[in-house]
Amino acid sequence: MGVRIGVLALQGDVSEHILAFRHALDGKGEVCAVRRPEEIADLDGLAIPGGESTTICRLVDKNAMRRPIEAFEGGIFATCAGMVLAAREVDDPRIAPLGCIDIIVERNAFGRQRESFETDVHIAGLRTPFHAVFIRAPVASRVGPKATVLGSVDRGVVAVRSGRHMALAFHPELGGDTRLHCMFLEHLQDTG
Ligand code: GLN
Repeated sequence: MGVRIGVLALQGDVSEHILAFRHALDGKGEVCAVRRPEEIADLDGLAIPGGESTTICRLVDKNAMRRPIEAFEGGIFATCAGMVLAAREVDDPRIAPLGCIDIIVERNAFGRQRESFETDVHIAGLRTPFHAVFIRAPVASRVGPKATVLGSVDRGVVAVRSGRHMALAFHPELGGDTRLHCMFLEHLQDTG
């Protein structure tokens, strides 16, 4: 039957990730929108999308999803606001991160003048640069020993892998390039 991927569907770029994963899976698995805590444990991978991290954080708790996500044994694909939530520590006291990935994250790290921009990022493991869309993006200000830097821009680290988890400060679901979704699927069997 292939892998089962869920996209946390509380707020944010949900349908874009579902389409990107459908494309990346090419019929070899299924993708669903996750709205209830009991849907999480059976998945192989869970995407936490971009959106507004303070809102997603509040909705995670309101919907009793914190425990199931913390206990989840599959891979986490955390993008933009998702990267903020999946971190070990965040520089904003309003957010209690889920601690899935050993990084410290600075929210809105590019400031007002560069709230939104696109640039090519070299990603370890990809043959050509990834054209990345940044929207009020975070950076990883520290990367713990369990995580590996996959890509950086001037301001800091914007792509990280930790075993089967990935965190991306930008929006890989926008733009039609699904190589990072594919990379996540390839590493789903990794340990750690
Ligand atoms: N700045 C947002 C936050 O921290 C993230 C923005 C996004 O996901 N595009 O919630």
